Amino acid sequence: MASVAIIGAGISGLACAKTLSENGHAPTLFDKSRGFGGRLCTKRTALGRFDHGAQYITARDPRFDTVVQQLRAADAVAAWDGRFGLFDGCDFQDTNLTTTRWVGTPRMSAIGRALSVGLPCHLSHRIVAIRKQNDGWYLDADVESNLGPFDMVVVTCPGPQAAALLPSYSFLREVADHLEYFPCWAAMCAYSETLKIDYDGFHLNKSLLSWACRDNSKPGREPGERWVLHADPDWSRDNLELNAADAERLILDSFHEFSESKPSQVYVHRWRYALSVEGDGQAALFDEQAGLGLCGDALSTPKVEGAWLSGHKMAELLMTAI
Ligand SMILES: Cc1cc2nc3c(=O)[nH]c(=O)nc-3n(C[C@H](O)[C@H](O)[C@H](O)COP(=O)(O)OP(=O)(O)OC[C@H]3O[C@@H](n4cnc5c(N)ncnc54)[C@H](O)[C@@H]3O)c2cc1C
Repeated sequence: MASVAIIGAGISGLACAKTLSENGHAPTLFDKSRGFGGRLCTKRTALGRFDHGAQYITARDPRFDTVVQQLRAADAVAAWDGRFGLFDGCDFQDTNLTTTRWVGTPRMSAIGRALSVGLPCHLSHRIVAIRKQNDGWYLDADVESNLGPFDMVVVTCPGPQAAALLPSYSFLREVADHLEYFPCWAAMCAYSETLKIDYDGFHLNKSLLSWACRDNSKPGREPGERWVLHADPDWSRDNLELNAADAERLILDSFHEFSESKPSQVYVHRWRYALSVEGDGQAALFDEQAGLGLCGDALSTPKVEGAWLSGHKMAELLMTAI
């Protein structure tokens, strides 16, 4: 039985922990946030909750589909049967995926919570350093030092954050340093009336926005008209250092084309590492000599499914080496 410290309780960390635990190993998760799920999350506000990160999940790989079906049986996900479209700058076209759009119920963060059941986890623990000593790996968190010893450490945070923790003698540090992400400015808007927009969610091209959705049209949501707007990845990258007030104004100006109603409240969030640039298909990497692993969506595909497959692959690599 191997003891494994996993830094990050996003989907890749949870998948790695779950697979290790199901095979008799002893994973322990650490996350700087107060909740599970990483970028698959929900913001609680005075005017209701918003899913401001990942919007919906698709499951194309049968292994991930099995996980989604288990989550469905536990009432942690449901199909989002809305009307979806693409706005090309002039007109809307309906988009019909052949796969189901799944969402967490009653909110996206329910998925991470459901996957975490039974797994040892230290939330609100930002790991600031990892050290190898004679008897194994130790972690230092902002709130507690000398956590360990562990036989192995898996790092699942976005590349630049992972590189800051990995030692220079491991090849994983250089890999992590080169992983790339697009940022995303997100606006969460609450309205006092229903907007006259025929779609529940639509992608946009040729716009400052890339996605807009009626968040309360997802199953199990509380009442109240709430929209989530995501700015285009290139625009977000070019305007990463805008102040929040300017980002809000520009995003709302752009959405004005679809509704002249003024939101009663707006919250803005800047995702510095939102969508990873597609990985080279390795899914996860293990430095056997050091006892260190690296996984996450950036080594796989820039989606929740990609993150899950990456974490699962990481566990398989570790178990082969044990
Ligand atoms: C705006 C947005 C929209 C998206 N839309 C979709 C979508 O519609 N569909 C889809 O499939 N995917 C979507 N994605 C992508 C999807 O959310 C990610 O691919 C996936 O959640 C990544 O999971 P992960 O485990 O690799 O990383 P993360 O979710 O980033 O998990 C890493 C974890 O590490 C933690 N962490 C970081 N540093 C430390 C530290 N020092 N100590 C402790 N913990 C640390 C973080 O708190 C986080 O919980 C979207 C993402 C964003 C941001």
